[in-house]
Amino acid sequence: ILTIISLLFLFLASGGGYMMAGRAIIPIKKSYDRQREFVADASHELRTPLSIFMASVEAIQRDKESKISPFAEIVLADMKDEIKKMSKTVSDMLTLARSDAEATMILKEKFNLMNIIEQVLRSLQPLANEKNIQLSFENQIEKVILADKERIRQLLLILLDNAIKYTPPQGKVSVGLEFSTKVPDIKIIIKDSGMGIPAEDQELIFERFYRVDKTRSREIGGTGLGLSIAKWIVLAHGGSVKIESQMGKGSTFIIILPQ
Ligand code: ADP
Repeated sequence: ILTIISLLFLFLASGGGYMMAGRAIIPIKKSYDRQREFVADASHELRTPLSIFMASVEAIQRDKESKISPFAEIVLADMKDEIKKMSKTVSDMLTLARSDAEATMILKEKFNLMNIIEQVLRSLQPLANEKNIQLSFENQIEKVILADKERIRQLLLILLDNAIKYTPPQGKVSVGLEFSTKVPDIKIIIKDSGMGIPAEDQELIFERFYRVDKTRSREIGGTGLGLSIAKWIVLAHGGSVKIESQMGKGSTFIIILPQ
């Protein structure tokens, strides 16, 4: 597994460019397609052993017969955290490799955006409570939109989860809506009172594995792939993302989706 993972990262890090295959130089597009297929296949293959690891750790934790020392209990809990992180990275890589191949279709349907936002806020409430962060829904407007419901849910989860992660305890996170009939479009505004994003990093954070201040981000946890997926979802809907941020004061992500 470790070999597959290192190869995977090597491939992801190497980006486009030319690859030597024997004496021939494979054009960029072909080599890129091969990389993408490799990432998709490898991530897919890694999912099963990872779920087996997880199930095994849980089985040991549940086994009343085995006498586990307090130290082993800590090790098992740490292992579980790492397996969870790795499963998230693998599933994010798979999403991105599939999106590159345009194998993931955007399936638009009509749904009430407000209901989805309420569901996502409910699921993130425990996370916000842990840090005493006030999570609110402003400008609630009942509106049926045409978009891919599951992808919009995923987009909201990524942005709100980040807003909570990168906001210190006692802070505020809000989501708001604006509709314009002129264009026509919808704006989803996600605002936090967190650490902010330096101007020079605001475009880069949408790149795969890019994280501002690596040490701090690693402590907070995450795959570095969330915003790449978020951007792909927005672009696949023909929309755009804007960031407004001030260091130490907070960040606002504005998603514009045409209707
Ligand atoms: P991660 O898994 O690291 O959160 P993302 O792709 O979602 O990956 O985000 C990339 C980086 O952008 C994060 O590591 C963090 O440095 C920065 N970032 C994202 N959202 C916010 C936010 N709301 N406030 C401050 N920094 C943020």
